[in-house]
This record gives sequence, C-alpha cells and structure tokens, in this order.
Amino acid sequence: MTRGSWTRRIAMTAVATAAVTAMAVPVGAQAATATGTSTVTTAAPAAASAAAAAAAEDVDYATWQQDCQAVMNQALPALKQRIAATEPGEKQAIVLDIDNTTLETDFGFSYPQPANKPVLDVARYAQEHGVALFFVTARPGIISGVTDYNLKHVGYKVSGLYVRGFLDLFKDVAAYKTAQRVSIENKGYTIIANIGNSATDLSGGHAETTYKLPDYDGQLS
Ligand SMILES: [Mg+2]
Repeated sequence: MTRGSWTRRIAMTAVATAAVTAMAVPVGAQAATATGTSTVTTAAPAAASAAAAAAAEDVDYATWQQDCQAVMNQALPALKQRIAATEPGEKQAIVLDIDNTTLETDFGFSYPQPANKPVLDVARYAQEHGVALFFVTARPGIISGVTDYNLKHVGYKVSGLYVRGFLDLFKDVAAYKTAQRVSIENKGYTIIANIGNSATDLSGGHAETTYKLPDYDGQLS
C-alpha cells in the first residue's frame, strides 16, 4: 500500500457519506442536499494531499522519527519544568495536531494507526502529571469516532477531540484551529504547549509555547 492511502480512504468515506446523506434527505430539502453534497469538496484537498504525500516518499521513516525525536527532546524538559511550576488552581492543557503529529498518518498504513512515539512519550508524561490533552484536527467530523478510538487505543488520554464540522470545512484551517484553542482557554485551561507539524497548527497564538514537527515543505499533512 502506498503512502497517502489513509488520506484517500478518508476522502472516499467523505464521498460515500455525502452520497448516503444525499439519498436520505427528503425531496423537500433538496436545497440542503445541494449544500450537503458539497461535503465532497473535502475530497479535493484530500486528493491533493495524497499526491503531495506520494511526492514525500523520499522522506524515510527513520529520518522522520529522528526529526520528531529531536523536537520532542527539547519539549520534554521544558514541559517538565512548566508542569512542576503549576500554579494553585491552574488547569494545564497541551493541544496536539493528529495527522503526522500524534499518529503516523503517512507512515502507518494499518488501522488503528500507530502513535508517533516521540510525541506519545511527551504526551504520556503530561497526562500522568495531570495535564489535559486536547486534539485539534482538520479531519472532518464524520471520522470523529474512529479517530477518538484510534487515539485512545494507542495510549493517549483524550480530554477533548476537536474535528471540523460541516461549516468549518469552508474556513481557513489556521483560523479554525486557533478558534478551538480559544474555546479550550474559555473552559479554564492554560495551554502550556501546542504541538503540530504544519504552520497552520501553530499560528494564531493562544499557547505558551509551540513545537513544530517536520512537514518537509508541506509534504506531510
Ligand atoms: Mg498534521
């Protein structure tokens, strides 16, 4: 199986679900159906990203893991210090991207997808020390259940999973992700770190620190 097959599978699921939704909608709601059918637009960027992933085949797994480990080697001691300095009453949180950050999306072809181990190690330290983990992904809501199961299955303690709702699919990804961090802050959490592999995971503030994993010029989603 080639890299990016997971992305293609998501795209196919999106198309299939849109088709089923379209069939299930009564005739009187055809306007809504037309809008609903445009969920298929998620297939276009997914296909594009599958093509990009195919172009990333020269990035081998060992290199990717080393590069991720190097970033997490910086993150862990800093987070240990920050967690040790928790203020009374402070609720700490870490926000994580999913694809090619917490899971081996473009390298793990099975389901459930394996955890990206360097990130899991940091996440485990945090969750064992009372830090809530929030996962903010551009994945569409229709795969929320399988994503939640996958994260828990490989060892992450999920305090919250934010997937894109229908209207979010039309928004800028960075703006969508920033809005989720604001929402997490509004629940009383202090976001001590935001970990992701794309610039759109990390821009927009609302985190004390950001840790950027490799995306090899946008080749990894
Ligand atoms: Mg990603």
